Parts: sequence; C-alpha cells; structure tokens
Amino acid sequence: MSETPSYNELLQSYRDLQLRVTRFSSVEQELINTRDRLDHELVLYRRLQDFSNEAISENSLNGFFRKVVESVVDIFETEGAIFMTDKGDFFTEGYNFKEEQVQQCKQTIINFSKRFRGGTANRITISDIEKEGVVNFARGLFYHLNDKSSGQTLYILGFISKEKDPLYNDFLERHETIFAVFAEQVRAIHGNLIKSVRLSENSILLRQLSLIATKTKNGVIISDKSGHIEWVNEAFEQSTGYTLAEVKGRKPKDFLQGEETSPESKLKLSVALKNKETVEVPVVNYTKEGKPYTVMLEITPIFNEEGQHINFIALQKDVTEELKYRSEILRINRRFEQISNKSEIGIWASELETGKVEWNEVMFKIFGVEKQDKEIDYFNIWLSHIHPDDFKAVNENMNAVFSGKVDQVDEEYRIIRSNSKEVRILSSLTIAERDADGKLVRLIGTSTDITERKSSEQQLKASEEKYRIIIDNMALGLVEVDLQENIIFSNRKYLDFVSESNIDDLILGANPETALIRKVENAQVLSYTQIEDNVFEVELKPRVDQNKTLLISTSPIRQGDTLKGYISIYLDITPIKSLQRNLENALKERNEFIQQIDSVKQFYEGVLNHTPSEIAVFDSDSKVLFVNKHWIENEKAWGKLEGKSLVQIAQNNQSEFDSIRNLIYKVNSAMTQNSLLQFEEERADLSGNKNSILRNILPYSNEAGLLEYLVVSGTDISELKNIQIDLESKNDELKKINSELDKFVYSVSHDLRSPLLSIKGILNLIFKTTSLDEKTQQYLKLAETSVLRLDGTIKEILNYSRNARFEIEYDTFNLIEIIQSVTDDLRFSEESHVAFLFDMPQELMMKSDKMRLEVILKNLIGNAVKYSRKDINDAFVKIMVSKQGNELVLKIEDNGEGIAQENLGKIFDMFYRATSSSVGTGLGLYICKEMVQKLNGKLFVESVLKKGSIFTLILPANF
Ligand code: ADP
Repeated sequence: MSETPSYNELLQSYRDLQLRVTRFSSVEQELINTRDRLDHELVLYRRLQDFSNEAISENSLNGFFRKVVESVVDIFETEGAIFMTDKGDFFTEGYNFKEEQVQQCKQTIINFSKRFRGGTANRITISDIEKEGVVNFARGLFYHLNDKSSGQTLYILGFISKEKDPLYNDFLERHETIFAVFAEQVRAIHGNLIKSVRLSENSILLRQLSLIATKTKNGVIISDKSGHIEWVNEAFEQSTGYTLAEVKGRKPKDFLQGEETSPESKLKLSVALKNKETVEVPVVNYTKEGKPYTVMLEITPIFNEEGQHINFIALQKDVTEELKYRSEILRINRRFEQISNKSEIGIWASELETGKVEWNEVMFKIFGVEKQDKEIDYFNIWLSHIHPDDFKAVNENMNAVFSGKVDQVDEEYRIIRSNSKEVRILSSLTIAERDADGKLVRLIGTSTDITERKSSEQQLKASEEKYRIIIDNMALGLVEVDLQENIIFSNRKYLDFVSESNIDDLILGANPETALIRKVENAQVLSYTQIEDNVFEVELKPRVDQNKTLLISTSPIRQGDTLKGYISIYLDITPIKSLQRNLENALKERNEFIQQIDSVKQFYEGVLNHTPSEIAVFDSDSKVLFVNKHWIENEKAWGKLEGKSLVQIAQNNQSEFDSIRNLIYKVNSAMTQNSLLQFEEERADLSGNKNSILRNILPYSNEAGLLEYLVVSGTDISELKNIQIDLESKNDELKKINSELDKFVYSVSHDLRSPLLSIKGILNLIFKTTSLDEKTQQYLKLAETSVLRLDGTIKEILNYSRNARFEIEYDTFNLIEIIQSVTDDLRFSEESHVAFLFDMPQELMMKSDKMRLEVILKNLIGNAVKYSRKDINDAFVKIMVSKQGNELVLKIEDNGEGIAQENLGKIFDMFYRATSSSVGTGLGLYICKEMVQKLNGKLFVESVLKKGSIFTLILPANF
C-alpha cells in the first residue's frame, strides 16, 4: 500500500511532467531561433565583405556584372538572380533564359521597376510578379537605382521559383536590409569602374574630356594656369547655383570655400596647384545660397605637347550619395555592434601589417580584462588566457591560418578568465583576409562564451534523454496531435490502451468534451466525468479485462503565440478507483461499527451509571477509563480520576486523593498480583453515617494471561448487614421457642398418656367382670375406642416430636427382622384376614436410623392392612425389598380401597384423611414424609380407587 502513490500525488506529478515537456520545447526553440538568426546575420555580413573585396579588385565591367549575379545567389541563397542596366547589360545566374525570352524579360523588369521607388530594397511576391508575367517566379527581392556617376540605371533581382517557395519562409524580411547594403555597394563599385574605364580609354584628351565634362553630372571647372575660371559645365551651374558668367575670371577658392572647409584640404589643394600636381581631396564647398555640400575635388593640371602648363581641370564629384551609403554602413555596423553586444558575441580584428588588434566590449567581458586607453598587445593577452590543455590545438589552428592552409577556423576551446580565474568555454571563428597575392592582410574573428549554453545544452540533453526514457517506459499514455488531430507522437502505453479497448483512438484535441460525447455515442467509451478543465475520467470497456478507468488530461501546445497542436496524457487509475471504492466501503463499515460500538457503549454506560453499585474500570496501566455516576456522587475525588494513572497518583502524594489513597493501593496490588481481591471497607457517607462497602477488585486477563483491564466495584451492604444480624438473633430466638415447644409437647404427651393408660387398664378390668349388661358393655366399648384413638394420636405426636428433636442415630441391623416383627404384630390384630406376601431376602443388613425406619414401616404396612377391602376374600399386602446400588428400595403393595386421583397429592399433609371412615389420625403419612426427608430418602405413591395402592420407599442404606 505504502509504495502506491496516492491519487493526488499521481495527478500532480503527471501535470508537472506535462508542463515541463511543453516548457522545454518552447525554451529550446527560442534558443535555437536566436542562435540561428545571429549565425545567419554573421554569415551574411561575412559574405558581403567577401563580395566587396573581390568586386573591388575586378577590372572589367563584365567580370563585375557576373560577380554581382553570382553573389546575389551566394549571399542571399536565392535560387536565381538577374542583373541588368538600361545600357543593355543582362546577366543571369541559376536560371537560363532563351534568347527570345531575354528581350521580353528586360522590358518586363523595366516596366516592373516603375511600380517601386528607386534606391530601396523591395520585397516582391507572386502577385506582383504575375501582374507583369515574369516567368515562373514566386517571390524575390528587387532593387533598382540610378548610378549618377555613370548615368545608368541598375536593376538587381534575386528570386526563387514556385517549387522551392516553402523552403524560403520569411527569407525576404531577413534579407531586406542587407540586400539594400549590397545594392549600394554594387552601385559604388560600378561607378568607380566606369570612371577608371573611361579614364583609361580616353587617356586625357582634352577634347573628349570636355565633351564628357559637358555631359557629366559631376561639376567640371576649367581654369587657366593661374587658377582663374575659364569655363564651368552645366552640372556645376546646377549644383552651385552660379552661372558661367558669374564665375568666369574668378578663383574658385574665393567664392566656393567657407567656414567648414577644412584647413587641411585647403593646404593640400594649394600645395598641389603650386606644384602642378594631380590632387584628389574631399572638400566642403558652398552654393550661391550659402549651403555647404561635400565633394571629392579632383584637380588635374593640363600640359600641352611641349610640356607647358596650360590650365587646370577640376572635377567636383558629388559624394553625398557615397556619404549616405557610408552612413548606412555605419548605421548597420552600429546595429551589428549592438546585436553582437547584446548577443554577447566578442569580435576582434587584427591588422597583420601594423600588428594592431581591436577588441569589442564583449571580448573584454569574456576574458575578464579591463579596457585600457593605451594600446595593448591583445594578441598576447589572448594567448596567455588560453587553457593549457587546449593551447596546443588552438596554436595548430593558428599556424594553419598563417601558413595559408586554411582561411577559416571554427573551434571550441577553454580560457581561464583573468579576474575570476573561472574556466570558460569559447566558441570561436577566425577568418583570414588575404590580398590578391594570397598574403595575409587581416584576421577577423568572433568569440562567444558558450559555457552556460554548453552546460544547459548538456542539461537539456540529459533531461531530454531522461524524459524520453520516462515517456517510453512510463505507465502514462502520451499522445501529441497537430491541429488536424493527426498523431505527431504517441508512446507505447497509449497504443496499448487503444488496442485493448478495441477503439479507434482516444484523441481529445481542441474540444475534449465534444470528442468524448461522440465516443460515448459510438459506444467506444462507456462514460466520462469531467474532473477539471480539460481533465476527464473516462470509463473504457476492454475486451478481456474488467472496466478500465483512465484519467485523461489534454492541453494545447504553443510555440510563442502560435497554437501547434494538443498533447494528451492518459493515466490508468483503475486500481486507484477500486482502492477508492474499497476504502469508501471500509469507511462506511467502520462508521456503522463505530455507531454500534457507540450505542453499546452508551447502553453499558447507562447500565453502569444506573446500577446502585459503585463501578470503575482501569486499563492495564492503571489508568482510569471509567467511573460511574454513583461512585462520583458518593466520593467526589473519583470525579477527578478519569484519565489519570493510579500508579502516578500513588507516587505523587497528591493530597486531593488522600481520601481514596487506601483503595488506590489496593487496586495497585490487585493489579500486580493479577487476582481477585475482595474486602469490606467502612466509609462515612455524606451525612456522616458509617456505611459498610463490599469491594471487589477483579482483574481481567486475556487468553495469554496478560492483564487487560480491571473492574473495581463497591456495594453498600450496610442494610444487608443489619438484616443479617436481625435474622441471626431471630433465628436463635426461634430455635429456643421451638425446643421449648418440643419439650412442652413431649411432656404434655407423656403426661396425657399415663391417665389414658390408667383408663385403659380400668376398662380392661371392667370388661373382665361378667355382670355387665349388653348396653353398658356397648358404652364401655365406645369409651375404649376413644381412649385407644386418643392414645394413638398421642403416640403419633410423640413420634413426630421425637423425629423433630432427636438427631439421626445410625445402627446396623437386619431389615427383614423389623419387617417380620411389624407384620407379626399386625397379624394378631383384629383384621387378620389380610394375607402377607413377601418378596425379600432372608436377611438384609443395613446401616440407618432403626427407630425411625420402624415407625415408617409400621405406618405404611399398617395403612395397607387398615385400608384393605373387607368385601373380598383375597385381600393381601405384598412387601418387596431390593437393593439398588447403595439404596434400599422397599415397595408395599395392597389390593385395598385405593385413593382417588384428586386426593393423592394431599395424603402426606398433616391431619389429612382421605376417607371419613378412617379411624386414623391423619398424622401417620405426614410423619413418614418428615422422617424420610430427614433420612435423605424418597417416598411416593401410586394408587387406583377400589383397586389398591403401592407405596415406594427409597433410602440410602450403607449396606
Ligand atoms: P390415618 O391415621 O387416617 O390412617 P394416615 O396419615 O396414615 O392417617 O393416612 C391418611 C389417609 O390416607 C387415610 O385416612 C386413608 O384415607 C389414606 N390411606 C393411607 N394408606 C392407605 C392405603 N394403604 N389404602 C387406602 N387408603 C390409605
């Protein structure tokens, strides 16, 4: 159980996972994008530089034009390029036009150019091109400009075809700026080339020169040998605002120069003029309106064939455009510097000739070196910081550059930073610039501190690896879909879920709830419950297993602001669900059980509280668990005991428990002895009366004999005690009265008998006299009967009283002898017609109370004779004796009058006689019963009226 994470933990951890997966991809993408952009820009600048180096050294115009189209393709990675001039030059790269197409294409491009402003880079798209019908172009960059120095319009076009279009996403905006720079470079170089071509072609023939001078858009001044103006061309008039007439005969310096014209330029000019040398110098001149403008002033002295100096020709080259270009370059460079600073790219350059090395700000930061004003040997600083372990490799690469083997080194090496002595990892690029002879002129390079990137790359790689393994092996299903819900990625578990449940898919996409409703309708999903936004519990019906519950969470994947697709995570929560159900059931059962226990507890507490006894329960540590109300009412101290340990109280001597301290000791000792302790205790009640309390301390042990708890009870037995004392005294009294009564009865009987016996004797004497008449004899007979009867009664009373007064006296005797003597006596009485039958041994010795047994037998046998039937001849009394174990069984059966069923229960009562005809006292059977009881025997009767009776006597006999 403890190894299974809880439902909430699982939910949390897979959400974290989900979040991280999303975060990773976007952070990583950003990183890559930035790096790519910077890398790309660097590459472009480098290519641009290569182009201008190569183009400058190009001497022929055609060679230059070819270079231009090649470079458009190389630098901007376009598929094709076109360069043309309005003079008729037409160069293509990457796309071959048929002869007949060329003319059409030229016209199209010229038409096309009218739709765009000259001197700016323009993005053109398929719709622009289609309008003009340019063949099979999709998109491209277009530039047209007027080269004032040559008077020509240049058209540059880089393009890609329809087929390749998707590969060139956003290439236009990325290349736009640099394309403009490129075009301006083309123009500048083109201008220079034209000039040099012109000079070389025409040497310096004055005639042609003047012709050109008239046509040229540069200002031209021709002055005499002393410097006074003879002629200016139209361009001069236009740019300065002066007419030829106004300036003729004047010296240019007197009206063209002004405040901003630099003294250096002035000096340079005057020296050259004096020495009659050619000079080219930038100069700030002023128009007629006083507006300064910058020109490149080129002055050539002209000599005639004799070598005499005749005049000067000055050419005012308008460099405003060039300056604009330069400032643009500067602006771009500044931007580039900003970018490199911002992106932490260190840039350095080293002039081989002067040995001068330059570092940008970032380099100082990377190497931890302070920037200083004075010139410093950065090359050596760089060398001294290289990590010793990497020095060899870096050195080898450097040598390869110096020896001319390579022009570019791309390397990674470590340095030890100067100030912090940290080891940093640099990514470094070194590019060699060589002159036409292949001599190394300059080294430029970049260094980037990639320590953090490296480690984050490693971390990224490690965590990517980690997550890939997790994703492949986890119990979570994972699926990633694009916006059209095509699966981009899914792990094995997801496929398992799908195939197990025989469904098409479990993709939830943009609208999870709608997707689920559809799946329920198609019976692919049994049911679902929404847990949170985009989190669902879904019930599946797998082919084999029991139902499966999945937790599905879906979230969008974004890159920047763009929605790319959705990722869903599937967690099998079937075990958790069933666990949850079991738990709920168990909880329910437990609550029911607790309720039962509670009601039982309440019941017992009720019982215990309402019992008149005092009851307390202790646990095995002698802690008081319960004290009933009754006890607390009687002894306030017990009210404070609940929850307390008696052992502690016994040790702490807390005075508030003094009154019950004795009991506490007793409880503790019962606990240690683990046996019942019972004792009486005297206690004064609330009104001060002394009461007797019977205490029971009952330890309760479990089967293993360990004490579990202990119950102390107390019952007030004061009243019981009083009753007992009372009873005992009454008993004593009663005993005394009884024995006195017995004595009295005995003495009365004795005293009564002797006069009776005297009467009887006198009556016998009277009967012996013969002189009695019939009547008198009759009366006397009646008197005798009464006397005999009274005597019988007295004898019986005596018997009774003897039985009550005397203890049992054990004798050993022969039972048969007693029976014979009883029957013998009876045989000689008047009713001798009854026959005696015997079923008994000759002799039967037994140990019992002989006197009592004689009385019993006389009564039972006597009754059988007495209540015999007079109306039959075969009356009998049968006596049966047998031994059964230690008991004597004696049956007396007769065929006499019998006893009615309803009277059978009463014959053993005192003074009861079943028939009024009986001559008896009604005491005989009562005494028999008393005696049999005293002897621990039993006596019972079976009888049928008019048929006879059987009396059975069973006695313990000790034979
Ligand atoms: P009694 O002195 O009247 O015989 P007992 O206590 O001995 O008193 O007997 C009670 C009554 O039980 C008798 O009055 C008689 O009616 C009845 N009885 C006792 N023994 C017998 C017997 N063997 N057969 C019929 N009746 C008997």
